[in-house]
Amino acid sequence: MEPLPFARLADPLQMAAAQWSAATLAAQTLLTRGLGAAAIAATQRQRYDTLVAHARLHSPFYRRRWRRLPAGVPALVDLPVVTKQELMAAFDDWCTDRAIDARNVAQFLGARAHIGERYRGRYVVWTSSGTTGTPGVFVQDEAALAAYDALVSVQLTGSAFAECDWPAALAQGGRAALVTADCDHFASIASWRRVAHGKPWLDMRSFAVTLPLPDIVAGLNAYRPAFIASYPTVLALLADEQAAGRLHLRPAALWAGGEVLSRATHDAIENAFGCPVINEYGASECLTIGYGCREGSLHVNSDWAIVEPVDRDHRPTPPGELSHTVLLTNLANRVQPIVRYDLGDRVRAATGRCACGSPLPAIQVEGRCDDVVALTARDGTIVRLVPLALTTVVEEAADVHRFQIVQRAADCLALRFGAADRARAAGPALRALRAYLDRQGLRNVAVLLDERNPRPDPRDGKLRCVVALARR
Ligand SMILES: [Zn+2]
Repeated sequence: MEPLPFARLADPLQMAAAQWSAATLAAQTLLTRGLGAAAIAATQRQRYDTLVAHARLHSPFYRRRWRRLPAGVPALVDLPVVTKQELMAAFDDWCTDRAIDARNVAQFLGARAHIGERYRGRYVVWTSSGTTGTPGVFVQDEAALAAYDALVSVQLTGSAFAECDWPAALAQGGRAALVTADCDHFASIASWRRVAHGKPWLDMRSFAVTLPLPDIVAGLNAYRPAFIASYPTVLALLADEQAAGRLHLRPAALWAGGEVLSRATHDAIENAFGCPVINEYGASECLTIGYGCREGSLHVNSDWAIVEPVDRDHRPTPPGELSHTVLLTNLANRVQPIVRYDLGDRVRAATGRCACGSPLPAIQVEGRCDDVVALTARDGTIVRLVPLALTTVVEEAADVHRFQIVQRAADCLALRFGAADRARAAGPALRALRAYLDRQGLRNVAVLLDERNPRPDPRDGKLRCVVALARR
């Protein structure tokens, strides 16, 4: 086997250059946004032209897809829509660096010790979990990483951070904690480790979401983070622990992403911790698509990403109406161009300008909406499990991406698979779920195989991966 083409740690000169580049981009982004909507639109247009010209020249996939279009840079609406299935099937041809190949990337991803490290010494790679179908593999170049870093810096100056208690953050050493699925190269943990490798002076720690809640609580109490980032369902559980007096943190700000954050959950988390919750809208295809403001809107980083709410036939959905899906164009990453990509989220564009005064377009997202499952242990204790932990356990054990965990009773879970996966995946998934429940003190909870296929909720048509008893 040939040696893997990646460096264990980034070169210090490369690190310094990357930080300088992110700082410059953050300053440029603030300046552009300060000039208003026309300047943002002009920046978007310039980045779009550069991206499309680059993709046409260097990506055989896009060259083929766009071969019947006029020469030059076509208008966005004239470009065909692409899907994850198509891009993954044409992986090598999709990438604009001809040295990248799917086999080699898979070899890199096979080593879990390398999460967040550089592939070929220059790229960061992450996978999407694929609970909604095909898993994705996304390669990010230096320019994209600098843009994502810049957007985080820009967010820190936004209205959502206005109430952040910076002296409290400094008093706690600026420690930052992430509670997430850390068993594979997922975008959140890969990005976290990349920043930790690149900025060793920052105090950052991650906690596995699959740990029993009391262990996460004990870990956070001992670490005393000033910032905590996680999924809304996890932050809501932590908020209950804080309110019950088992968790006693004084965070300066919390970061929520990866799932829809409702206004009620947002407010409950803020009340429990007494600090702002910043809502981030991101995806493996574009790490920071938008961020929440104090008015509860999500503002699209439209100088770095284009979000088109569309109907089933990919025609624009008018503001105020819920779209069937959104088409995403990531203007930051050139190595793997995402151009009019069907992201699958349903969004509603705002009808007017947001009261916060931001010149960026505002949207509301209806995204992942899996349930938290409350199970009863033998001694009567209620143990609540977050959907991300349950799905991670099943995916990790069975390498399966189309399944459903349905709660049948206070002490019973059933697993459903697509017919094609059932025979192969059922055994490993049931064993892994059994072991996971045992670790949570839920030995009395039964885990069964349901021979039916995963089924959408009859009321809203949504296919949830995790369905709680309360919903049924
Ligand atoms: Zn706003």
